[in-house]
Amino acid sequence: MGSFKHSVAIPTTGEVHVIVGPMFAGKTTALLRRIKSEVDNGRNVAMLKSSKDTRYAIDSVVSHDGIKFPCWALPDLMSFKEKFGHEAYQKLDVIGIDEAQFFEDLYDFCCNAADNDGKTVIVAGLDGDYLRRSFGSVLHIIPLADSVTKLTARCELCGKRAFFTLRKTEQKETELIGGADVYMPVCRNHYVNSQVITESAKSVFESHKVNRDSLLVEAAPVV
Ligand SMILES: [Zn+2]
Repeated sequence: MGSFKHSVAIPTTGEVHVIVGPMFAGKTTALLRRIKSEVDNGRNVAMLKSSKDTRYAIDSVVSHDGIKFPCWALPDLMSFKEKFGHEAYQKLDVIGIDEAQFFEDLYDFCCNAADNDGKTVIVAGLDGDYLRRSFGSVLHIIPLADSVTKLTARCELCGKRAFFTLRKTEQKETELIGGADVYMPVCRNHYVNSQVITESAKSVFESHKVNRDSLLVEAAPVV
């Protein structure tokens, strides 16, 4: 016999699952599907999202295809336990986090929830921003994760698999919240070529004030 004696009950640890990808890849839909199946299995679930994203509804997570689930909209994750109530938190089995790139305390929260509190945390967020730089803390939690899923969208210009989010406008801030009016999913080819067009066409846009979207689409096949 070994010397491991479990005379004291060891608290069960949780899990961390990460869903990443560009915009319009179905990350929220995948998250909601997993959360719903947890609910169907009788598990106690809470859904969190950033209060920065008010595109659809403040009190529910809504996927681009219209699926809905009630949620807590928070400025940060560390305040959740307090707001939710410690007793209610103890009873939670699963925590879903949407738009995770907006939470700066993502790593500490996931680490604590899974390691110490025994929660299953399912996280959905953008891995990269419109310049394909790491976005927020989403990539920081990969070393914590049990599983990582990278979803793809369809390139808006050619229909191939899209890995990246292209910004259609010229605003430069990293956190520019918008939908199909501001962003589109693109394949590598169209990401690279459309970035070139966006840069070189700036002077044209500025002097002629033409419709940017139509120029972008018309110019794309030339290069
Ligand atoms: Zn394409």
